[in-house]
Amino acid sequence: MNRRSLLKNLSIGGLTGLLLGKSAFANVLTEDGNNAGTAKRALRFAHLTDVHMQPELNAPKGLASCLHHVQSQADRPTLIINTGDCIMDALKQPKDRVETQWKLWHQLMTGENSLPIEYCIGNHDCWGFGQKIDPLYGKNYALDMMRLQKPYRSFDQSGWHFVVLDSIQPRSTDGQWYACQLDDAQFEWLEQDLEANKEKHTVILSHAPILSAAPLVVGHLGKTDTGYQLGGGAILNDAERVVTLFTKYPQVKLALSGHIHLNDEVKYQGVTYISNGAVSGNWWKGDRYATKNGYALVDLYEDGTFDNIYIPYGWTV
Ligand SMILES: [Zn+2]
Repeated sequence: MNRRSLLKNLSIGGLTGLLLGKSAFANVLTEDGNNAGTAKRALRFAHLTDVHMQPELNAPKGLASCLHHVQSQADRPTLIINTGDCIMDALKQPKDRVETQWKLWHQLMTGENSLPIEYCIGNHDCWGFGQKIDPLYGKNYALDMMRLQKPYRSFDQSGWHFVVLDSIQPRSTDGQWYACQLDDAQFEWLEQDLEANKEKHTVILSHAPILSAAPLVVGHLGKTDTGYQLGGGAILNDAERVVTLFTKYPQVKLALSGHIHLNDEVKYQGVTYISNGAVSGNWWKGDRYATKNGYALVDLYEDGTFDNIYIPYGWTV
């Protein structure tokens, strides 16, 4: 398959060339699913993040349209990886509002989707951070909605190892709201998990990016004289220890995240950190800067290489 037919196949339109750049085609697939080199593809999945489901702004119609787009790909992915913020917001919302959003989510994910889904928890999924009002406070309700036992975990699929991190922690100053980082117990678990799975090519999944360049250039955060101030809710506050840990485990190839609703890629010390744009774009109000409402198709190969192609699904307000 050449570049032209790949684009046609993905039905992603003229903007795609600009979004993809050249490097995305380094491993263009051939008809038999192998890349242009010698590696055989192990798995294709769709990465959907930051759906922010709500009854308003046609969000249900938008998610349905995205799910149809994913499932009508000629070369269909075999699962969906979701990196959180399934619902618009649970942080400071009353229970009935949170229930309404999750109900819509499940209606769409069962009614309009036949692919299996793996979840990662996002900040807006955590009910009640900042209002401690119920035994379901914090993440428990979201974990229940995602059918998860623990907020972080790992699993193997198609010869690759997937590590799902929980990047959302109660803020240490007051125990309320949230900060993007790992707790110490989780960091220790991460080290053990990487040590025990040294032979497997590994993908790290997190809601908040471990590393991302885009937060530096949006939101006017750069201040003359004082420099950049990202705040505790942008990227991982403890990125340094996580990135340093990865240098000891070269099986870590790719880190995928959402949260910033922007598509960017950072290559640092042997790991590629990719943030994909949001299914909800600018929270269902249009494009988020130069990133349209979309999802990514991710191909993992047996030799540890991968491709990530960001695909706008044609949503307009
Ligand atoms: Zn979000």
